[in-house]
Amino acid sequence: MQTQHIKIESLHRQESDLLCAASIIQSGGLVVFPTETVYGLGGDGTNQEAAKKIYAAKGRPSDNPLIIHVAKPEDAEHYAVTNPTYYRLAKAFMPGPLTVILPKKESIPLSTTGGLDTVAVRCPAHPVARRLIELAGVPVAAPSANLSGKPSPTCAAHVAQDMDGRVDMILDGGDCEIGLESTIVKIDGDSLTLLRPGGITYDALCMVCKDVSVASAVTQQLADGERVLSPGMKYRHYAPTAPLILLTGEEHRVLSFLQAEQKEKNCAILCYNEEIPLLDPKNLLPVGDRSNLEAQAKRLFHALRDADGTDATVIYAHLPPMEGLGLALYNRMIRAAAHTIQEII
Ligand code: AMP
Ligand code: MG
Repeated sequence: MQTQHIKIESLHRQESDLLCAASIIQSGGLVVFPTETVYGLGGDGTNQEAAKKIYAAKGRPSDNPLIIHVAKPEDAEHYAVTNPTYYRLAKAFMPGPLTVILPKKESIPLSTTGGLDTVAVRCPAHPVARRLIELAGVPVAAPSANLSGKPSPTCAAHVAQDMDGRVDMILDGGDCEIGLESTIVKIDGDSLTLLRPGGITYDALCMVCKDVSVASAVTQQLADGERVLSPGMKYRHYAPTAPLILLTGEEHRVLSFLQAEQKEKNCAILCYNEEIPLLDPKNLLPVGDRSNLEAQAKRLFHALRDADGTDATVIYAHLPPMEGLGLALYNRMIRAAAHTIQEII
């Protein structure tokens, strides 16, 4: 398949490109588009064939459901059974990086929801995504636009690495603002369960709902045969070729460990900016200042792809704190590391 690559510099002047992208989606094709979280691989969420094409393009297991993207929070009415808690969340966080799981309506085929009777709904904030969904006039089913098992793409170059020749069109909207996938919550009456942490933090959710619990799979390894609340939790994600090891311990001890390892091994290091002058520059991949979790979130998937491109035999990174946006980083990194954490004492 020949993939059209289009750079969007002005929504206003490039309405015709967006119209073209929307008509591809309407006719069952696939368009990759930028969102504020990561790039999405979009198709018509009401079209079974489009859902099948999405799974095929990603090489994704078809029991791992797709998130449908709507232009306005109230558009969810056509596809899901909403409730007052949904609208409270919508008022606080939409458009934005929040996905809500609701009972699905008939309009959404089971092929989109991986056979579940619930559907995941999100209203993205990125202007290109919003205009595309509006023009398409259908809910746009879109998982992250990476090959299954690779880090989610946060820039068009990464999309092209994975999706060139597999989709009809790639809309390049520059770097994604947040860099990690959306927060996912399941609503149960007035209560929420956090299934995947992201740009909307646990603390922010607690400001809107009194009862927010965190699914155990967010921070812990699933036990054999354990039932998951969200099918994506059971798949290993973002696995770099070389093993990734997460380090924890006192700052100076971790630094000494890394310095020693660099002398002995060919390692890649996802380091903090403060450590750049103290480490050998070979295969050093800075992710941001130690205290800047936003910068680290934006940089993480980029750094993991870069680490994969080196000849390193082991990759080290710092174990993030579990607070604020750190919980989303922690969740992605423990999965990329297959839960390998080393405490330096
Ligand atoms: P991605 O599209 O790559 O961001 O992944 C979407 C994730 O949303 C999947 O891995 C699922 O775990 C989760 N998800 C989507 N739909 C549902 C649903 N109906 N119930 C629970 N989790 C869902
Ligand atoms: Mg994904």
